[in-house]
Amino acid sequence: MLDIKFEATKNPKPIPDENDPLVFGTIFTNHMFVMDYEMGKGWHNPRVTEYAPIVLEPSAMVFHYGQEMFEGLKAYKSEEGKILLFRPDKNIERANNTNKRICIPQIPEEDFLQAIKAIVSADRDWIPTKQGTSLYIRPFVIATDPYLGVRPSNTYKFIIILSPVGPYYKEGLDPVKIWIEDEYVRAVKGGIGEAKTGGNYVASLASQVKAHDEGYSQVLWLDGVDRKYIEEVGAMNIFFKINGTVVTPMLNGSILPGVTRDSCIALCKQWGIPVEERKVSIDEIYEAAKDGSLEEVWGTGTAAVISPVGQLRWKDHIMPIQDGGIGELSQKLYDTVTGIQLGKIEDELNWIVEVK
Ligand SMILES: *Cc1c(COP(=O)(O)O)cnc(C)c1O
Repeated sequence: MLDIKFEATKNPKPIPDENDPLVFGTIFTNHMFVMDYEMGKGWHNPRVTEYAPIVLEPSAMVFHYGQEMFEGLKAYKSEEGKILLFRPDKNIERANNTNKRICIPQIPEEDFLQAIKAIVSADRDWIPTKQGTSLYIRPFVIATDPYLGVRPSNTYKFIIILSPVGPYYKEGLDPVKIWIEDEYVRAVKGGIGEAKTGGNYVASLASQVKAHDEGYSQVLWLDGVDRKYIEEVGAMNIFFKINGTVVTPMLNGSILPGVTRDSCIALCKQWGIPVEERKVSIDEIYEAAKDGSLEEVWGTGTAAVISPVGQLRWKDHIMPIQDGGIGELSQKLYDTVTGIQLGKIEDELNWIVEVK
């Protein structure tokens, strides 16, 4: 058990109004959780303190070589006013896998969960309740040694900040147009693709800008070796429904193992829908789109939960999916996952953790 110190802010900010659009990642609550690490001493000084700028040396290692990790999950308020987390154990497990890959010390799982609960509880009044809203939780770790040599840092800060977020789509699910990238790659097996770390995102920016300029909202990555097998979308995993079977790229070392991905696979299996985790080539998808067997395409991730894909573009080929509309299974997965998250649908798979 962590002995978490609580220092309430002396400058509380007003909680956003019910009708505030809560644009993703722009508003932050009154407090943050902070814990320090020092070699020899371990993680220490856990505290909930004012959300405020942090002071670091310009030489802090995180600024130069990118030793940092992050996570993303959400807290929801149920109709009865309960505060619910969705599978936080999966995020914590993944966080420590990321830490291991980039030489950040492990954070004991129970301490991590206690920290999430403490900060969410401290700013519980900031959890919005309007349809589709939630409190986004962003835990992250940064390397803080003031040193320009290349090695793992000996000191770190583990911080959790909170941001109330509005519905990802203003009016129900809204299919996205996706650009299949054939010039740049995101990650390769043996690299850091399966770690949730900023380096993967900086590698993706140039493609994202290109896709945006062409009128596409996100990029779909192909594998870094053959440029042939589908990996994932910007910040989402990808699913296809082909001839009644759900197909998603297998976790191969370069794909981020999404919690929403895992949840969708579990639900489909529970419903008796065949699911295949395997290699999926772009040629297979192109052919399936052409012969009409490609029934649905959707992305999965914490932010949007389910993001139906209305169009894929690969080189000069434009593939409309579901005539740009929303597939039945995509909608059912969205309704079920969000229903469980909000405590409206029975949590048969034991995914919900309550914050008291
Ligand atoms: C976080 C993330 C996802 C989605 O993971 P969830 O746990 O479902 O939110 C997918 N791809 C990348 C690159 C990510 O960073």
